Amino acid sequence: MNGKHHEVDCSVILERVYVFIDDELETADCAEIQQHLDDCGPCLRAVDLERMVKALVARSCRESAPVQLRERVKLSIRHVQVEISEGRHLDLD
Ligand SMILES: [Zn+2]
Repeated sequence: MNGKHHEVDCSVILERVYVFIDDELETADCAEIQQHLDDCGPCLRAVDLERMVKALVARSCRESAPVQLRERVKLSIRHVQVEISEGRHLDLD
């Protein structure tokens, strides 16, 4: 699955995860984000972020995620977004 080109751009997914954390998306959007995260290493290159986001997505699809978890994930996503916007994660391929 490495090197596979995604239909949805990684930055778009991260953007949506961000919105998702603040607002809560519809269940359909949860599934789409989850699918992308399962499939896409660059989005989740930090192990902690992967664990946090997956836990957050899994929980938020059913119930509200804890505020503390939201804040940690938001910080991590912001960090990854900066790297992606600078094109650094492309070096992994
Ligand atoms: Zn991605």
